[in-house]
Amino acid sequence: MADIPLPVVLQGSRCLGCKYRRLITSGSGSVFLLCQYGLVEESWPKYPSQPVAECRHFQEARIATKLGE
Ligand code: SF4
Repeated sequence: MADIPLPVVLQGSRCLGCKYRRLITSGSGSVFLLCQYGLVEESWPKYPSQPVAECRHFQEARIATKLGE
């Protein structure tokens, strides 16, 4: 898969280094950040407002991943 540029709003977001984040590319090429913590905790947003500066649920991702993985 070719690398897709990150939207400016995501650049510098705490989410990018978090194990819960998943980057989703729509059919039109828009990139969204899904917080998978929000899938297990209903009170947590699945699509948090970006950029996130600090987050109490942040957990460092151990392996860097590319878009869509
Ligand atoms: S847990 Fe927090 S830092 Fe991690 S992806 Fe969700 S909102 Fe971002």
